[in-house]
Amino acid sequence: EDEKIMIEGALKLSEKNVRDVMTPINHVFTVCEEEIIDYDFMGRVSDAGYSRIPVTKRGGRNSDITGLLFLRDLVMLDPDDNTIVSTVTNFYKHQLMTVDQDMKLDDMLEEFKKNHHHLSLVTMPIQTGTETDSKAERETCGIITLEDIIEEIICDE
Ligand code: ATP
Ligand code: ATP
Repeated sequence: EDEKIMIEGALKLSEKNVRDVMTPINHVFTVCEEEIIDYDFMGRVSDAGYSRIPVTKRGGRNSDITGLLFLRDLVMLDPDDNTIVSTVTNFYKHQLMTVDQDMKLDDMLEEFKKNHHHLSLVTMPIQTGTETDSKAERETCGIITLEDIIEEIICDE
């Protein structure tokens, strides 16, 4: 029965898009690049519980993401040193992966396997009136992780 559910789930990956399973950007836990990594910061990040945290531009919105902070990047830091988030992201420079919201989930799984990444930003074209510019600007509308795809495979709905 479990096998049947998983095979059905795997087959359905080509019928669903990234946007169907992503976490919308307004629900994403982010930190700002200019924040100080003090006890309060450590507490908030620890409470949020996410292993991967998108980093936003100073003064930016949740969709203005400039980097990625891994929870594990913090283990060697002393909260008394008042290190700034950007110092850490500039040191590790974790690559940000970006995909279109219309990508099919089977292709998304391949992208994750190819890049050895677990999280990707999801973007959509910015609506600019009537214009249909093929090189239209894009904005981040969500994040997707490997877990979001695995859930589609193993979950009976
Ligand atoms: P891991 O299990 O590798 O420790 P995690 O628990 O931080 O990672 P995932 O298991 O990759 O996160 O994802 C679980 C769910 O949480 C997914 O729906 C994913 O989209 C969402 N998610 C991951 N990171 C964040 C974040 N920073 N803010 C909000 N949601 C997130
Ligand atoms: P992440 O990529 O989310 O940071 P990770 O690199 O710690 O996680 P996984 O990607 O889950 O680990 O697993 C990669 C490989 O490392 C797997 O083969 C897994 O079994 C192995 N692995 C994970 N944790 C440990 C550990 N503590 N000791 C030895 N091997 C581990």
